[in-house]
Amino acid sequence: MEIRKGIAVSPGVSIARALVIDSREQRIPRRSILPSQRANEVGRVSEAFLGAIQELTTLQSGTNIDQDNIRDIFAVHLRFLQDASFRRRITDFIEKELTTAEYAVSTILREIASHFAGIDDPYISERAADIFDIEKRLLQKLVGKARDMMDPLGEEVIVIANDLTPTQTAGFSKTQVRGFATEKGGRTSHTAIIARTLGIPAVVALGDITGSVSADSRIIIDGNRGVIVIDPSEDTIQEYREYAQNLRRLGLKLDSLRDKPAATRDGVAVTLLGNVEFPDEAKMVKEKGGQGIGLYRTEFLYLYSGTEPTEEDHYQAYAETVRSFEGKPVVIRTMDLGADKVPHGHKLHEANPVLGLRSIRYCLQNLPLFKTQLRGLLRASVLGDIRIMFPLIGNLQELRQAKMILRDVMEDLDEYAIPYNPLVPVGIMIETPSAALTASMLAGDCDFFSIGTNDLIQYTLAVDRANEHVSTMFTAADPAVLGLIRSVIHDAHKAKIGLSVCGEVASEPEFIMLLLGMGVRTLSLAPPMIPEVKQIIRSVTIEECNFLARKVGAMDSQRQIKNYIRDAAMKIMPEAF
Ligand code: PEP
Ligand code: MG
Repeated sequence: MEIRKGIAVSPGVSIARALVIDSREQRIPRRSILPSQRANEVGRVSEAFLGAIQELTTLQSGTNIDQDNIRDIFAVHLRFLQDASFRRRITDFIEKELTTAEYAVSTILREIASHFAGIDDPYISERAADIFDIEKRLLQKLVGKARDMMDPLGEEVIVIANDLTPTQTAGFSKTQVRGFATEKGGRTSHTAIIARTLGIPAVVALGDITGSVSADSRIIIDGNRGVIVIDPSEDTIQEYREYAQNLRRLGLKLDSLRDKPAATRDGVAVTLLGNVEFPDEAKMVKEKGGQGIGLYRTEFLYLYSGTEPTEEDHYQAYAETVRSFEGKPVVIRTMDLGADKVPHGHKLHEANPVLGLRSIRYCLQNLPLFKTQLRGLLRASVLGDIRIMFPLIGNLQELRQAKMILRDVMEDLDEYAIPYNPLVPVGIMIETPSAALTASMLAGDCDFFSIGTNDLIQYTLAVDRANEHVSTMFTAADPAVLGLIRSVIHDAHKAKIGLSVCGEVASEPEFIMLLLGMGVRTLSLAPPMIPEVKQIIRSVTIEECNFLARKVGAMDSQRQIKNYIRDAAMKIMPEAF
């Protein structure tokens, strides 16, 4: 028996035989062509794109795929294939380098994939899997080989692979594939999103496992705790059967909460909003009972398409989301680019990019880019309850500058009589210690704060949020971080402006009572976690939360705080731990 720990990306527990998928990368050799063959190879590229587009269109409207999220992912692949500049990169490569269409497709797609993979944002970096998926589809059209679809399976299996593409995952039969475990991946990959949509337990980032699992190994996959057990003992199997039974009961109970209010036992209402990266994900927020969107990360518009978004691209993306939310709040954060999140042609070379020209600083030095987004955003503001949020504000001057640009854009729109909401609420993310420490000053110039704990922890504790070597030091359960959060809440309440928390802590069960006890009443979190967080809220009284927050306020070490809040959450929802 061997236990391996990875990252839990889709909850649930299953026990089944392993199916190891050998996903060694197909290498395309460089083959040169004669100048006279250029036109022929360029023509083959066009045919391959056409074939892939037709195939995806059929898949997207296929009757056997009834999950909207999956259809949306095919739509994203389609948009990519329909992007003329992307195709031009491939044909230009053929023209210049005189290579086969296969080699050009493979080289350009891998270039794009490695650009994504190198971006310091897990959500964006994991988009590389989608690019590999598109590469595979195009190569299959060029080479004419059957895609590596799953053969019909005779029995239930847990798929073990180095990595899986989103469409491979979408092709899994839920009744036969009872889980998947991969060596690579992260919690925000499309593959993970699909796993959650299909309700298939999944654990990723397990390191080298394909070598440790044989074809007849038995596997337990625990998608709640991010664990797989290879060849478990009979006692372990029994233990997990009971655990799975408890989880099933909990799932049924949580599903029944969807339309119930998120209020504590003593009647204090809490607003639960969703964090989204793509307009398509807004649907999941509603399915899980979210009351709006508290953080719409707009970076995908710049990074995923490979081209700079136009005002119309911005408008369409925001309009689609806000229309689907019918009067509910949709907080759109202006682009958080910079550091490694830079679109093509804007690459900066900085020694410390996280401390460099990122986010609002980048916007204020790239006004045309910023104004294009603000125009799209303002135009969409007449369609519903859109709110604008500026990221990484470090001081009052920066906030005032950003607001001045916003006013300039409003004046431009006035000149052309283009409608927008002149009273659109404007808020800021509090994610730097300087903003937290001057929150009382900032509050006078904005309508709301949203505490971004991911960056606030990083900058307060000087711990890189993406560096696995210091990951155990990265926690909100630290007296310094909690002290800042507490004072921001106090300042927001005093100034009577809106306040929410949108960093990952808002989705971590052990932090919910503490946040409520510190005075937070709006949380914005990953959509799949909404029911669980709602259940915690509905199980406690504000008095209990206040008591817990007072106790934690007197503690002086991370370990003490972590243990205390975890014990309290376990008492409320033991099934979730
Ligand atoms: C944060 O920093 O907490 C946050 C929500 O923003 P992001 O994770 O996009 O940096
Ligand atoms: Mg942030």
